[in-house]
Amino acid sequence: IMLTPVLKNDLAAQAIDHCIFPIIDAAEVKRDGPAIVASGTGLTIIDGAGKPHLDMISAYTRANSLGYGNQEIARAMYDQMVKMHYAGTVSIVTEPMVQLARSLAELTPGKLSRAFFVSGGSEAVESAVKIAKQYQVGSGKKPHAYKIISRWNAYHGATAGAMALTNHLSVANTPDPAMPGVSKIPNPSCYRNPFGMAEDEYFEFCANYLEQQILHEGPELVAAFIGEPVMQANGTQIPSKAYWQRVREICSKYGVMLIIDEVICCFGRTGAWFATEHFGIEPDIMTMAKALTAGYAPMGAVMTTEAIADAIPHFRHVHTFSGHAGCAAAANAVIAIKKREGLIDKAYDNGVYFLAALKDKLTDLPSVGDIRGIGHWHAVDFTSNKKTKALPEPRMVKAIADKMKSLGVLVGAAGTAIEVAPGLIATREDFDRTVDAFKEAIVAIA
Ligand code: PLP
Repeated sequence: IMLTPVLKNDLAAQAIDHCIFPIIDAAEVKRDGPAIVASGTGLTIIDGAGKPHLDMISAYTRANSLGYGNQEIARAMYDQMVKMHYAGTVSIVTEPMVQLARSLAELTPGKLSRAFFVSGGSEAVESAVKIAKQYQVGSGKKPHAYKIISRWNAYHGATAGAMALTNHLSVANTPDPAMPGVSKIPNPSCYRNPFGMAEDEYFEFCANYLEQQILHEGPELVAAFIGEPVMQANGTQIPSKAYWQRVREICSKYGVMLIIDEVICCFGRTGAWFATEHFGIEPDIMTMAKALTAGYAPMGAVMTTEAIADAIPHFRHVHTFSGHAGCAAAANAVIAIKKREGLIDKAYDNGVYFLAALKDKLTDLPSVGDIRGIGHWHAVDFTSNKKTKALPEPRMVKAIADKMKSLGVLVGAAGTAIEVAPGLIATREDFDRTVDAFKEAIVAIA
């Protein structure tokens, strides 16, 4: 791009000259410029032009679950960093890392009690797959198992293995060779499904499909099934309890490790510490990241059971920053704040309030097809025909999100839907303002 000398001095221009921008057309960033964020407090961020925005989407990634400028977390990190920021990995441990492992054992459901730490969601998924495969070999139960079953529309990350499990075209549609042995089955989407079935019938079909896929692939070769408890594709897809219970039953029947990918759901997003709790199931392996540190430090974790961990005689996997003490200090502070302030229960109650308000104000608008959500994670799904549930006009969803941005409220477009997923410190006033902005934007655009 040819930049004028004035633009050359500008932060945006320097960013265009020196940064690579993910999952967006580079030409678009060069044309419109990157979004400069200068500072933030609570749920308000200030952009490069000094304009405030109410962040109702947790920094778009759904990671920032305690807002901006939290001094308690920053101080906990500072105190740890000047004492011992990072000590190495393998068998080296620090106090905050062990404290975090203990907390996770307490907070996660069922028998999950052993933690492996990583730097983010994709690494958590890669590590979970390795635990599953190495368990199948190490335990002698399935010495040749290498296959993993995932789902249509899944998002499990962008590194090679995680990307192979992902069905999100913006990262998966590349010429890289996929991980061998991955197959994908239908996902329990709520509002639309490709077979036009009723919701519960479709959920049952999707769960039973897993059994057929395991039989088709050869049960002795299938190491694991992976799924997000609540899926993001086309906005907050909440399956039934019966769906997950049937999936659990099938995995147990065929000795297939059940990996629940909680990266986007964990630490209160759905009004529970982990979304898995809503479905009353116990995973064999669970991944988490994002809200683990509320976005204050890059960290993820994988939890598994003692029996699974002990069946792996020598875990053939490592990441340099596994168990980083400064990141662990951030996670410990985040957990302490969420416990002390009762934010997980509050998030559940806020979700009930917000869902009712969204339904009350938006249901009758002609382009609104479905409204759903739980905790601090809701979606308004759009259509061009309420009766047939036809897809919305392609540019409409982004136009509504952009209009809301111009009204000072940040939300996220997710396929046919717009998601609202604020930090757990969002107040009823923030939710009310979001409903009003939603209505004003939809009426103006759709
Ligand atoms: N798994 C799920 C369910 C996710 O939502 C994401 C990211 O959005 C990932 C894995 C990958 O996480 P990361 O971007 O931290 O690598």
